[in-house]
Amino acid sequence: MSSIAFIGLGNMGGPMAANLVKAGHSVVVFDLVQDNVDSLVAQGASAADSASKAVAEAEVVISMLPAGKHVESLYCGENGLVQHMLPGTTVIDSSTIDADTAKRVGGKLESAGFKFVDAPVSGGVAGAAAGTLTFIVGGAEDTFASVKPLLEAMGKNIFHAGDVGAGQVAKICNNMLLAILMTGTSEALQMGINNGLDPKVLSDIMLQSSGRNWTLELYNPCPDVLPQVPSSNNYNGGFMVDLMKKDLGLAMEAANSSKSMTPMGALAQNLYGIHSAQGNGKKDFSSIFELLAANNLN
Ligand code: NAD
Repeated sequence: MSSIAFIGLGNMGGPMAANLVKAGHSVVVFDLVQDNVDSLVAQGASAADSASKAVAEAEVVISMLPAGKHVESLYCGENGLVQHMLPGTTVIDSSTIDADTAKRVGGKLESAGFKFVDAPVSGGVAGAAAGTLTFIVGGAEDTFASVKPLLEAMGKNIFHAGDVGAGQVAKICNNMLLAILMTGTSEALQMGINNGLDPKVLSDIMLQSSGRNWTLELYNPCPDVLPQVPSSNNYNGGFMVDLMKKDLGLAMEAANSSKSMTPMGALAQNLYGIHSAQGNGKKDFSSIFELLAANNLN
């Protein structure tokens, strides 16, 4: 069993750390929000009152923070963890951040003698709680092999995408495609409704036809077509519009730096930006269906 420091106990990090405790690891936690720390302590973790104290005796450090600037400042900023970790510590950053920051942070940690993988996840809050996340890992082959058993305590599918940064690239390729599929599915359903079709019947038809895709099958954006999805719960829960907007921003940065042509991704970013600006940032991302609603062109 490993001695783990877990930094960032929000919607995702909280249940991920809890699964490590359940698997029998010794987990020391830190978050800027005391309630998040207290919740993990109640589930068997130990608390530290700073990130540097949390990592003092850890073999593995895991972070789950909002964005690249938080990750860079945690490890490499003033009094960063690079100055406090034990020699040889392995760092797993599971936040979704831009690949350039992941490579920069990974490079600095590796040149200071630490091991690093970027390991963003897919599967949302429900997957984090159930321990069924997909981990998309970038890093050296031997580091990947050494962290895989630990990741299996929090996830079901563990992929090695390539070198440091590759996990983040694969994750944003997936999320860019997801945004495009969700937007396309929404506009097809809205056009059907505007032409008198029942969205459930139309969904059933497209599910057996060539328009079939994950959003239509498992995450239908039209309310009351599927039970227990955010669209049937006023677009509450799930994956927030603002997080999708963030991921589309990361995708466009990756597209620019690699000179990739991504017109569909750019359009999805534009539409999610408008939807967020109209006050929908906290809703589930399937609410893009409402932006494309019948009355928009009237
Ligand atoms: P969140 O905002 O709920 O949690 C982030 C946590 O980090 C907060 O508790 C915050 O207090 C803490 N934090 C921030 N800076 C800190 C610091 N310097 N030291 C210690 N704690 C700090 O976010 P989340 O939903 O848990 O998402 C985390 C990451 O996972 C993001 O990059 C997100 O894009 C990604 N992600 C989220 C989902 C999802 O469905 N929520 C799915 C996949 C990936």
